[in-house]
Amino acid sequence: MSRAVLRVSLLLLAALGRAGAGSEQDQDQEHGDEDSPHPRQKGPGHSHWSYEDKDHWGMDYANCDGTAQSPINIDTSKTIFSPQLRPIQLSGYSLPANEKLRLRNNGHTVVLDLPESLAITGGYAQQYRAVQLHLHWGSLSGPGSEHTVNGHRFAAEIHVVHYNTKYANFQEAMQQPDGLAVLGAFLEVGPTENPYYQEILEHLYKIQREGEEVLVPGFNIAGLLPANLKLYFHYNGSLTTPPCYQSVKWTVFNQTMMISHAQMSMLVTSLRHDDSEPLQNNYRLAQDLYGRRVLASFQTTLPSTKHLPSALPNSHGDNLQCNACAWLAGDVLAVLFGVLFAATALAFLLYIYKHRSQNARLDSPTKSKVIYTAAATENTA
Ligand SMILES: [Zn+2]
Repeated sequence: MSRAVLRVSLLLLAALGRAGAGSEQDQDQEHGDEDSPHPRQKGPGHSHWSYEDKDHWGMDYANCDGTAQSPINIDTSKTIFSPQLRPIQLSGYSLPANEKLRLRNNGHTVVLDLPESLAITGGYAQQYRAVQLHLHWGSLSGPGSEHTVNGHRFAAEIHVVHYNTKYANFQEAMQQPDGLAVLGAFLEVGPTENPYYQEILEHLYKIQREGEEVLVPGFNIAGLLPANLKLYFHYNGSLTTPPCYQSVKWTVFNQTMMISHAQMSMLVTSLRHDDSEPLQNNYRLAQDLYGRRVLASFQTTLPSTKHLPSALPNSHGDNLQCNACAWLAGDVLAVLFGVLFAATALAFLLYIYKHRSQNARLDSPTKSKVIYTAAATENTA
């Protein structure tokens, strides 16, 4: 009898744990979106779309009017905490200097081609290989990230584009619902020069004109992304540029990257379009969610603790970091289940005690002894 009660208690606890821990397993599997905005579709002839014309992309590219478009505004009061979202793991991201990479001004952004040896090996349900990375920025007078968080636009945003290895290549994958995985991170101005971003920025003056390219030495590409790859948002979306294929499983990191003021200036003023205009404000505005859910790998709001900081960016826009929030949230959960367990154990002990006295009264010592022993043993185990 006591064993049964104990088992029920444990099952109950386990079930509660699962329910409290999170939800949304379905989207976890799809975790592979990306934004392959400007991957390689920009040939020498250069496509004819422009950011000035972004409201009309749908006329030439029907997907751009779809219902799973990117970027989006991430409303942290509506994100769904999903403990199934494991830390993103990268492999092969540290490249030797003797491995040269092509850096190109494609008229829409600066693109760094990446070798396929770079891969996402954890965090997504499937394996993805890198294709390229690129940036989105504003101007000297305004920010230019594509995603926004609680309405806040960051200075700039990096996108590292990957394709699902179950497809033959990027071109084939970019049209499949689970074809791409894009890792996105926000850039902001900080006090010091960022040496990883410098590996790209210091070459921009050589590719000022559209179509120009240069070979740059390899470096640790992972340095362009946040150190903390555990805290992120995930949702299914699209390329943020024509043809806007809805094939991207997006990961947007919670931690922002810092580059110096001089570096940010270099980013927003170095490149030009074919018409000699400065290449600036190359970001698309937030798209409607149309009911899509945005998952978070961490808790962005804390249960009944309203005075604690709400997970994302603060208004000063310095740091997106909310490592403390995640930590606190985890703790609250732990304490909650601790209390729950203690209450269950107490109830159980009371039950045993009651039975024991009953049995004693009924004079059936064997049974009561078994119950009691089993309970004591299992309880302390
Ligand atoms: Zn992009």
